[in-house]
Amino acid sequence: MAGTLHIIGGGMAGLAAAVEAAGCGKHIILHEAGRACGGRARSYEDRQLGCRIDNGNHLLLSANKTVFRYLAMTGATDTLTGPGAPLFPFVDLKEEARWTLDLSRGKVPWWVFQPHKRVPDMRLVELRSLQKLMAATGDQTVADCLLPGAFSRRLLEPFAISALNTSCETGSAALLGAVVRESLSQGGNACLPWYAKDGLSESLVDPALAHLAIMQVEVRTQSRITALDCERGRVTALHTSEGVLPVMTEDAVILAVPAPVASSLLADRLPGFSAPDEFESILNLHFRLDQAPQPLGTFAQSGFMGLVGSIAEWVFLRNDILSVTVSAANRFATQDQDTLASTIWHDVRRACDPVLKTALPATPPHQRIVWEKRATFAATPAQNRLRPGPATALVNLALAGDWTATGLPATLEGAMRSGVQAVYTLGLRRPS
Ligand SMILES: Cc1cc2nc3c(=O)[nH]c(=O)nc-3n(C[C@H](O)[C@H](O)[C@H](O)COP(=O)(O)OP(=O)(O)OC[C@H]3O[C@@H](n4cnc5c(N)ncnc54)[C@H](O)[C@@H]3O)c2cc1C
Repeated sequence: MAGTLHIIGGGMAGLAAAVEAAGCGKHIILHEAGRACGGRARSYEDRQLGCRIDNGNHLLLSANKTVFRYLAMTGATDTLTGPGAPLFPFVDLKEEARWTLDLSRGKVPWWVFQPHKRVPDMRLVELRSLQKLMAATGDQTVADCLLPGAFSRRLLEPFAISALNTSCETGSAALLGAVVRESLSQGGNACLPWYAKDGLSESLVDPALAHLAIMQVEVRTQSRITALDCERGRVTALHTSEGVLPVMTEDAVILAVPAPVASSLLADRLPGFSAPDEFESILNLHFRLDQAPQPLGTFAQSGFMGLVGSIAEWVFLRNDILSVTVSAANRFATQDQDTLASTIWHDVRRACDPVLKTALPATPPHQRIVWEKRATFAATPAQNRLRPGPATALVNLALAGDWTATGLPATLEGAMRSGVQAVYTLGLRRPS
């Protein structure tokens, strides 16, 4: 297969496309605008904290098949860590309750009949919410499908806001239903939580780049594509900061950039092109402690904890770094950051102190707030309808990115699936 495949964007969609296409016979060039690949899932040296951190905590489930395939292909499976069991410790700060969701491994949900394994105070009738989500139509929101009760408040609402990064009142029930179909409804073996042991780049980027180097894929960082030339239904040239790159008849292009960049590059080129144009932010607050806290019980086993009745939703522990995630964070954008940080620290202490060997300090330690302003598209029914598929009217151009029509919300799994689909769309590989 002669010619060159240009992949534009070195986030998870672009990297997954490159890993999938490597060895297909075309010369592959990956163009990444930034200094490093990884996009919205990356690690970096933080001067303020004096250590390496991730832009944000990322949680994977064993149901994320495309991610695990990518990790296996890049030799990075061992760089993840997790409890090795479908265990999710939770605390409800409003109602002062603590529990560990302990899912049964198989498809039959025995856990719902065992009070010490399920959500406290849940009623079995509330499980109908899961069916309603899985059967949801395009216009329904998550709130339309949730039956009131502890199962919704203590599990489905936090699950929804983390998976969709959008409130339950506006979030698409169909998108959450797709996640439920692939994870919870498949049983605990599909819900094993995993996260990067050392860092996102160490798991998702560096091993992939090493693999791509062996496969002779050319990775060009600081290479921003500023325009595409198109003629007679094909992309014919890419404009870069260095000059114009011709795209020959046997060449192909995968555009794996964020939605706003794709819109600006394609608006004049593809009449009727649409892409999501509303976004939600995610706030991550990283605290650097004087010494690594020593967690107890299932908090020690999992390394993270879910918080209900708090601004903070998840607390992750990695050595001396304690990181907090707040999803759908646009609602906090106008709040004073110091006040927000002290409110969160207050909640973190209440949540963690009872399950740590030594209590956390009363005053917030060194901290770094990372606001990802456009962390994901707003996963509403209306925005979901704007997502294009991988094929375009330009025969040698395919689209990828978590914002394309993957049927999933904006996640690592969705991003990687889109990259692989783009490769299939261009006929460079066949689905196995
Ligand atoms: C804080 C945070 C927490 C998250 N948590 C989770 C989680 O727990 N679980 C989960 O599954 N997902 C999570 N996500 C979502 C996940 O990170 C994204 O869905 C995924 O990384 C998106 O990958 P992408 O390749 O589609 O886009 P991007 O990561 O945005 O990649 C696009 C790339 O294109 C490059 N680029 C842009 N313009 C150009 C140009 N003109 N030329 C060349 N290159 C260009 C960019 O620099 C970037 O590297 C989280 C996201 C954030 C921000």
